[in-house]
Amino acid sequence: MIIVLKQGIDEGQKTHLKEWIEDQGISVHESEGEYCSVFGLIGDTGKMDMELIESLDIVESVKRVSDPFKSANRKFHPEDTIIQVGDLLLGKGHFQIIAGPCSVESHEQICEVAEAVKAAGATILRGGAYKPRTSPYDFQGLRSEGLDLLLGAKKETGMPIITEIMNINHLPKFEHVDIIQVGARNMQNHEMLKELGKIRKPILLKRGLANTLKELLMSAEYIMAGGNEQVILCERGIRTFETYTRNTLDLSAVPALRELTHLPIVVDPSHATGIARMVEPMALAAVAAGADGLMIEVHNNPAKALCDGAQSLTPAQFAEVAKKVRRVQEAIAY
Ligand code: PEP
Ligand code: MN
Repeated sequence: MIIVLKQGIDEGQKTHLKEWIEDQGISVHESEGEYCSVFGLIGDTGKMDMELIESLDIVESVKRVSDPFKSANRKFHPEDTIIQVGDLLLGKGHFQIIAGPCSVESHEQICEVAEAVKAAGATILRGGAYKPRTSPYDFQGLRSEGLDLLLGAKKETGMPIITEIMNINHLPKFEHVDIIQVGARNMQNHEMLKELGKIRKPILLKRGLANTLKELLMSAEYIMAGGNEQVILCERGIRTFETYTRNTLDLSAVPALRELTHLPIVVDPSHATGIARMVEPMALAAVAAGADGLMIEVHNNPAKALCDGAQSLTPAQFAEVAKKVRRVQEAIAY
């Protein structure tokens, strides 16, 4: 249920209403927008008297919300969420480019790529330490050592970093990681999502290989229900009957999620296509579709990459994409 409050009302009356609702075992998610304030009610609101609430002088309107996702729902929070990452902002017009290798391979590799992508305009450095690989015989990432190398690159470049968590027991190692990534394969690892809900750090949640947008939002809800509202959604392609590309980039996810949720939306054209030459056109299309950010894989020597070389851009190719991204942003600005 959502309660839209009248403008310019007394804070005391507002608090009184909130406490009265909470006394009935319902939690209240408060959203203060530019034009209105909204109370999003979470819990069993079936027995609440809508007419009684509607009759209060501080209340503009009351609506039942049938969607099962509440905290992530735009109806509960009409304004776009802005997430702070280090000194940067993401969402509501604040656009960021996340770039870096699929996996951290060595000090030289991560630092060389970090310096190059930073110079080209990337603002957040990515690098996998714990890698989810289809085959147990493939490179599994440098794990804890990889994380240390990524933290070293953060220190050297000053860039905030993002890396994937594969096991919640590793969480203490992520203390100085700026954004924790939940990969596509863990999108519905609900126990992990619940634990990530207990911390106060941005989480980039990737859409599962064959998950609907509603399922993605329900997974975001698992994190938010614990009180961690800093969730960034990531469209990274889904599995379809088409095998020419690694996945099929569902770009309509951007405007669809924009309608459904207030959370920032990032697009990953690298995993979506699996083919380096297709990263640029899909990145530009994602920007034109209104994404709040991009995540692009870059390697200093893609041919020798230990993971995802085929979809990795060279630093020079990335610089070209970043330049064109800025041109698309200018073209769509109004
Ligand atoms: C990644 O970003 O390194 C990754 C493994 O992505 P996904 O979970 O989207 O496959
Ligand atoms: Mn990868």
